[in-house]
Amino acid sequence: MSHRSQYVAPRHDGDSRRARLIITILSLLAILSDPAARAQVSPAISAYLPRLTDSSYASHVLGLEEFGTRYANAANVQSVTAWLDARFRSFGYTDVAYDDFTSGSSAQRNVIATLPGQQPSGGEIIVCAHYDSYASPTTVAPGADDNASGTAAVLEMARVLKTYGYTPRLTLRFIAFGAEELGLVGSSHYAALAKAAGRTIVQVQNYDMIAYRPHGAPNAIRIIWYDNARDLAVQDSSVIRRYTSLTPILSTSYRNQSDSYPFAVQGYRAFFNIEQTFTPWYHTAHDSTTSLNMAYGAEVARSGLALLLETDAALTMIDPVDHPAAYALEQNYPNPFNGMTMIQYVVPHSSSVRVTVTDLLGREIAVIADGEKSEGVHRDAWDATAQPSGVYLCRLTSGGFSQTRKLLLVR
Ligand SMILES: [Zn+2]
Repeated sequence: MSHRSQYVAPRHDGDSRRARLIITILSLLAILSDPAARAQVSPAISAYLPRLTDSSYASHVLGLEEFGTRYANAANVQSVTAWLDARFRSFGYTDVAYDDFTSGSSAQRNVIATLPGQQPSGGEIIVCAHYDSYASPTTVAPGADDNASGTAAVLEMARVLKTYGYTPRLTLRFIAFGAEELGLVGSSHYAALAKAAGRTIVQVQNYDMIAYRPHGAPNAIRIIWYDNARDLAVQDSSVIRRYTSLTPILSTSYRNQSDSYPFAVQGYRAFFNIEQTFTPWYHTAHDSTTSLNMAYGAEVARSGLALLLETDAALTMIDPVDHPAAYALEQNYPNPFNGMTMIQYVVPHSSSVRVTVTDLLGREIAVIADGEKSEGVHRDAWDATAQPSGVYLCRLTSGGFSQTRKLLLVR
């Protein structure tokens, strides 16, 4: 996390800020009190999580700590980026790129490993952390927690997906940002370029200081959210509850002090995770692995992997390597719901598909889809805010196939 930032936090009108906060709390309560949403665990996502191991995660942290310092203006900065490049390549990545920029007069770079998506028009997911460290004197800045711990999470998520042959729908970019401690310099450079190029970035998952948890401290992780992406933070919170042993805590602390902030400023949906107990060794020569809890950091990384997979595979995950074999209408999510719900269905081959919502008397309330659909998983929202509480039926028909699901709207 950066100790200084040249950014000015967006100003808020007090009342609208309170109103937004209340809305956030209400939507959070709606999800947390929804047993169906909490229970919705995809076996395919669950299968990936144990592949992200504590020991592999720890090996990345140790490798970064061994540099002694990763201070952005130190003489070894190029060997750090070369190490990150080699690490990504050792997992099997062939697309590892540099995004070069300057901080003052010093040359800096972000390192980006890309896993191309099958549906490039769907956009990109960015999983990121800063690799630079800071302490005074800067010659001894091991930066194990800040931020080898976050960088290791990015590396480990990248490793698992590549090693096990995951074929993403969206393009996944794993980014190690430089010069964060100098004022979010690398991420600001990157986010501004992305915006100028008109890139579609669906979500930005940033990890900054995630492995300090002393014995007896709460097994909790903070989600730092931004006004334009409450829903993403709520989804992360839900994912953490469903897939990990951690307790999620939504917070607005340190909003403008980490690499997700420049993305939020550019209008992208972003958040970052940070340990619940702030390390006493922050920005000191004592920020070493001896004070870290690797199992805790790895668990945060697993939550990130689950979130990434959930967004990429569109909620209920079908084995992404195989072509879908049959039509299917998945259970809507969340369910019960109180306004908006997602309806997902699978089309095994290009064909005409009709998806409708009716009430119990058979009256058609909404048409979700009607027409030619391509092979794959489709997802559409049903906005039921104008409908009364009750049970509704969602039906998918195509040729001779028909499947119905029960939707429960609760106000
Ligand atoms: Zn820091």
